[in-house]
Amino acid sequence: MHELSLIANLFEIMEEKAAEKNARKITHVVLQVGKLSGVVPELLITAFDMYKKDTIASEGKLEIKEVPLKILCRDCKTEVVKDDFVFICAKCGSSNLKTLSGMELYLEKMELEVD
Ligand SMILES: [Zn+2]
Repeated sequence: MHELSLIANLFEIMEEKAAEKNARKITHVVLQVGKLSGVVPELLITAFDMYKKDTIASEGKLEIKEVPLKILCRDCKTEVVKDDFVFICAKCGSSNLKTLSGMELYLEKMELEVD
């Protein structure tokens, strides 16, 4: 499962940051996940809940913010939010497109509990 290795990486980053701040617990984690990132949010949450046992985030909650797929047509300069993966401009039919958002996969925010 791709998501499990992502979560393993995420925990490495989280634990490092928590240690820097002498945190006792990680209570809330917000991840930005782009539609094009190829990651399934539900699977990420499942993987997080499996992984968090016996870690500093054992009572933590993972929140996923899905970032829509947004493209710009280089020919007619139209910006479109897409909910499909058809990479053709709806306005002029061009396939000369640029992805503006939707590739995201990163840790946006982390809440800690410090003694
Ligand atoms: Zn266009």
